[in-house]
Amino acid sequence: PTVRAMEVTEKPGVTFDDIGGLDEQKRELYEAVILPLLKPEAFRELGIEPPKGVLLYGPPGCGKTLLAKAVATMSNATFIRVVASEFVHKYVGEGARIVREVFKLARRKAPSIIFIDEIDAIAAKRIDIGTSGEREIQRTLMQLLAELDGFEPLGNVKVIAATNRIDILDPALLRPGRFDRLIYVPPPDEKGRLEIFKIHTRRMPLAEDVDLAYLARVTEGATGADIRAIVMEAGLMALRSGRRYVSMEDFAAAVEKVMKKRRRPYAESP
Ligand code: ATP
Repeated sequence: PTVRAMEVTEKPGVTFDDIGGLDEQKRELYEAVILPLLKPEAFRELGIEPPKGVLLYGPPGCGKTLLAKAVATMSNATFIRVVASEFVHKYVGEGARIVREVFKLARRKAPSIIFIDEIDAIAAKRIDIGTSGEREIQRTLMQLLAELDGFEPLGNVKVIAATNRIDILDPALLRPGRFDRLIYVPPPDEKGRLEIFKIHTRRMPLAEDVDLAYLARVTEGATGADIRAIVMEAGLMALRSGRRYVSMEDFAAAVEKVMKKRRRPYAESP
């Protein structure tokens, strides 16, 4: 079995406390995934069916993977991650088989969360299915849909997928009983950025002049990944000057450096 194609973590360790902002998204995931895994009988009694699959979409670096990991930790579930673009580049010809194996493993390790990153790589709408490569991708997608259709909403396997390109997804994927809950994961607002700065400086000795609220204010457009890079960069500057704490000047220089690389903002879609 090609276990290398998937990454399995019994307990990722991340929880919602490690994720800044995204309160609404956390609440939705709690109700759509965590609660049904922890208390299926409550849903059964009320006759409501939770979604089988949840699709997280939004720009890179804003916490989709973190959210999926936290959901697994908080529902005591095994976290199984596959990167769909690897089916296309690395595991050519094996896509459908790997999908089957992933679901088999998930059932064996249940309760479990299957996280499919970059799902657009196998689930983009196609105008023509001409080449053999395209047919192979199509087979991988068909296998995924068959697996999704084949299990119960109240079972103990849940699928979370992520994409930066919801605009190109095949609508078949979003049909009821498949990925029928869509959650937008936006770049952080000022309050979110402050929380992310706090999280990433938790273990960092800071000079007294370090004003995280100010940093949150001046980093409009930064993603969570950018903020993590800023904090790391500031730490490196302190290290280079031989100091044991990080100063506001270090942060100012780090913001300058990281924000210069920021591209244009992501347009929300569809
Ligand atoms: P991609 O589309 O690139 O996979 P993603 O949305 O899945 O992006 P993550 O992998 O979750 O993004 O985030 C990348 C890193 O940025 C995280 O490991 C974390 O260090 C940091 N980060 C992103 N968003 C947040 C957040 N909301 N709170 C704290 N850290 C964050």
